[in-house]
Amino acid sequence: MEKEFRVLIVGGGIAGMSLAICLGEMGVSTELIDKDPEWKALGTGITITGPTFRAFSALGVESEVRRLGATNERVKLFQPPEKFIGEIGPPETIPPLPNNGGILRPVLHKILSDRTLAVGVKVSLGKSISFLSQESKFVDVRFVGGGSGRFDLVVGADGAFSELRTHVFPEASEPTLTGQGCFRHLTDKPADVDCLHMFVGGPVKTGVTPCSSNQMYLFCNAPMPGNPRWDPKDDWKKLRELLIGYEGVVGSVRDALGPQSNIVYRPLENFLMNPPWYRGRVVLIGDAAHATTPHLAAGAMMAVEDALVLSELIGSAVSLDTALEAFMDRRFERCRHVVENSRTLGQYELDGVSTVEHKQLQEESWQRMATPI
Ligand SMILES: Cc1cc2nc3c(=O)[nH]c(=O)nc-3n(C[C@H](O)[C@H](O)[C@H](O)COP(=O)(O)OP(=O)(O)OC[C@H]3O[C@@H](n4cnc5c(N)ncnc54)[C@H](O)[C@@H]3O)c2cc1C
Repeated sequence: MEKEFRVLIVGGGIAGMSLAICLGEMGVSTELIDKDPEWKALGTGITITGPTFRAFSALGVESEVRRLGATNERVKLFQPPEKFIGEIGPPETIPPLPNNGGILRPVLHKILSDRTLAVGVKVSLGKSISFLSQESKFVDVRFVGGGSGRFDLVVGADGAFSELRTHVFPEASEPTLTGQGCFRHLTDKPADVDCLHMFVGGPVKTGVTPCSSNQMYLFCNAPMPGNPRWDPKDDWKKLRELLIGYEGVVGSVRDALGPQSNIVYRPLENFLMNPPWYRGRVVLIGDAAHATTPHLAAGAMMAVEDALVLSELIGSAVSLDTALEAFMDRRFERCRHVVENSRTLGQYELDGVSTVEHKQLQEESWQRMATPI
């Protein structure tokens, strides 16, 4: 591998920060830019499965995630209004790591951003690229508002609607709507909610995920044909309407909804970039290459794994070209599996496919995710 390697990471989300941590620890000269001057995490909480814990463990942040998040071993399944029908769990294939858990997005962001800075990565905020050109072994970049740089590798980690992707891969497709929308609502956790509760087989898929000792988020995947929009101030009314008829913890959360409720709504989209995810010395990772719907809670897993694999190959391959080629070999099928199965699970929800088939695909997918990266 070439010596004195300089890397620019565009985007400081889970993927970009994870790669920055790995490269910073390897002593690779790394700069991370994010166009958000506040570098904040949007959203409420995130569900973490065993394979995501494994990726966090390899990144060296798993104990902090466990300390500040919530962990548990199983998922309780209910049929609406509130009939307990059993438990499922991601397979216990990665002991001693937890099978399941959750964390607030801003808390995860702080763990990763503190670590990024601690390993000596240069972070520049409110910064994005205005122009990029490639020679055979380097990339010249100009930044919006002035300044420029020459890098051996530029990594696009700028999310599902990546501007870098549009610039470098103008022929690439864009994320497509799946026909569902997803609400997430952060609220206090009752003491008896000690794991993910999922309500299936009703008009929407809903439930709650603990994400700290005293907080949880309610999720609700609902059919949204034609991608309707409304004033975000009315999110709570829309969510309340969708949860009519549910009892138990979901019913209690619904009854407490009001204008003060902390709710995030997103129409669900997914995206899988055709291989290769690199062109010359520019490579895409995370949602920029593969944006999944949340049905397998595996977006963060893929983002961190991309960073682990890419940095490992940068450190071990004979050249950057072979590293990028090997990166595609290691990542494409695994990410394709997650993106496609997540989309299928969403389609099952839309089509009202039986709980049995649903559970089978979910468990098969978890088994696959638990295999080594
Ligand atoms: C509704 C929903 C729920 C989800 N729930 C889960 C879950 O429970 N568990 C899970 O594992 N995954 C979940 N995911 C997926 C997960 O959130 C993503 O896969 C993950 O956040 C991707 O991280 P990323 O770093 O690739 O992208 P992002 O998080 O999108 O980060 C991109 C970063 O790039 C920056 N940026 C953007 N454009 C530019 C630019 N031009 N220049 C510089 N910087 C730029 C942004 O400011 C941002 O900081 C969910 C996704 C959705 C949509």
